Amino acid sequence: MLANYHTHTPRCNHAVGKEQRYVDRALEGGLKELGFSDHTPYFFGEPGYYSSFRMHPEELEDYVQTLLTVREEYEGRIRIHIGLEAEYYPKYFPRLLDFLRQFPIDYLILGQHLLFNEEEGVPSPAPTTDEKLLDQYRGQTLEALESGLFSYFAHPDLFRFVGDEAVYARHVRAICRRVNELHLPLEYNLQGLRDRKHYPDPRFWRIVAEEGAEVVIGSDAHTPATTWDPQRIEEAEAFLRSLGITPIEYVRLRSIHESK
Ligand SMILES: [Zn+2]
Ligand SMILES: [Zn+2]
Repeated sequence: MLANYHTHTPRCNHAVGKEQRYVDRALEGGLKELGFSDHTPYFFGEPGYYSSFRMHPEELEDYVQTLLTVREEYEGRIRIHIGLEAEYYPKYFPRLLDFLRQFPIDYLILGQHLLFNEEEGVPSPAPTTDEKLLDQYRGQTLEALESGLFSYFAHPDLFRFVGDEAVYARHVRAICRRVNELHLPLEYNLQGLRDRKHYPDPRFWRIVAEEGAEVVIGSDAHTPATTWDPQRIEEAEAFLRSLGITPIEYVRLRSIHESK
């Protein structure tokens, strides 16, 4: 692994450790690039509603300032990118984008943790046999990726469909074909592997292999130690190799500052 673009900070309330410790660990592993992509702030419509797993809008300034300092501190040793992991919530995304564009944010990755606009309370990891929800996940994430504003699709297999296998396969295949057209990588997520979650889902990755989609490994680090986790990297690479997949090392980051 030469680069990791999925790194959190304590601002999301479920990660620990100073930014510098994450960078030190990346250096230990010989990484050339480290992208921070903490859970983005969001502006929700319902007064009083706020999700607990993301920074607040007023914390973004400090996030960016801290990382600009870190970038300077480590200059010449490792390239630091300032990103965010964001869901695509159609109702609130335009306002978010206006806000984020005021900051030197280098990139976004898509992590669709809940469906619709979050407030409806439909988490992607909740097991379901409802094809309508799977279809919603597919449609919503592809609409996000088609915007050209996201650099890759994080844990694309987060949605937990436990119904008919043929139905699952059909939707996954459609995702793969569209990301191929868009030249966007899919992330094989080490956090899920580490915690033995329902993802990475082998069913998903077998289809990825058949469709020849681009794959990148993401640490999804919430602690400095997991920024570079050699055991998990090895496990991931071995599995992907068994499917004939060679992950890419670097991702071409897409700017959020130019409209297309
Ligand atoms: Zn997280
Ligand atoms: Zn993440």
